[in-house]
Amino acid sequence: AARSARVHHQRYAMGQDEQHLRQLTLIRDLQEAVGRGQLAMVFQPKLRAADGELVEFEALMRWQHAELGFIPADEFIGLAERSGNIHLLTGWMIEAVCAHVAAWEAQGQRVCVAVNLSAHDVIDTALPARILEVLNKHALTTERLSLEVTESAIMQDAELALRTLEALRAAGMSIAVDDYGTGYSSLAQLKRMPVQQLKIDKSFILRLDDGGDDAIIVRSTIEMGHNLGLEVVAEGVETPASRELLRELGCDYLQGYLISRPVAAEEVPAWIAQHQG
Ligand code: C2E
Ligand code: CA
Ligand code: CA
Ligand code: CA
Repeated sequence: AARSARVHHQRYAMGQDEQHLRQLTLIRDLQEAVGRGQLAMVFQPKLRAADGELVEFEALMRWQHAELGFIPADEFIGLAERSGNIHLLTGWMIEAVCAHVAAWEAQGQRVCVAVNLSAHDVIDTALPARILEVLNKHALTTERLSLEVTESAIMQDAELALRTLEALRAAGMSIAVDDYGTGYSSLAQLKRMPVQQLKIDKSFILRLDDGGDDAIIVRSTIEMGHNLGLEVVAEGVETPASRELLRELGCDYLQGYLISRPVAAEEVPAWIAQHQG
């Protein structure tokens, strides 16, 4: 028993080492990822709940690592933030998104895109001017971009975040509170922020149709959001039953695998054509 316990312990320790090595590798290679063209943006549509009209696409980042293959955003975005590299990814992302929007425009498709900002981005008071510069370079107006920022990112340094968000808002960009319901911020705090949308976290939406407490939470979130003059978005809509319930509850916008998985930039015009036709 002692021996098997030790073997077990060794395996466990190796697992941790391996994981640590993988993280170090990813952090080391993050800086090259941009230059080597290993990053890409994919786009997931957001629909108006009432009539299914396409509103915008959310831009999500993907990393194709040379040796480790596909790395999910959940794994490398956090590492980029902790290693102080997120600004590289954000800078690349804004440029890539605007270039795609301009290219679709040239093909006759007027597309709006929501981008995700990290905690570090939100306190970067130089970011609004940089975004405006990139939009300008591609001859795009500010209503083409909207922003998604998590509750916890906003609350890490609420004073600085307020300054950045107010500048972005004043420039004409709409702001959504992402992953709503997973943080600890009070509504009184959130109300000080210039936000227009609450995006209910998918953990409340994924099992919405199984008769549990999630429906109660979602119902009151939608009600409360509306009472504060905010639009409400549900992400993680995977079943027709959830979609119907969200419509009944008056949710404004829907997003999830039921409607579409994120699609590659090249597939966006065809997705729009098919959705409209
Ligand atoms: P998020 O902003 O909350 O994005 C939603 C995540 O849920 C995405 O994962 C999306 O692919 C996934 N998803 C969408 N619909 C469904 C569904 O119906 N069911 C399920 N189970 N999942 C669904 P993804 O692309 O892996 O992104 C994970 C997180 O990484 C994002 O969460 C966001 O916080 C972050 N992220 C992604 N791209 C960027 C980026 O360009 N910049 C920053 N700062 N963060 C990003
Ligand atoms: Ca998001
Ligand atoms: Ca989210
Ligand atoms: Ca999330």
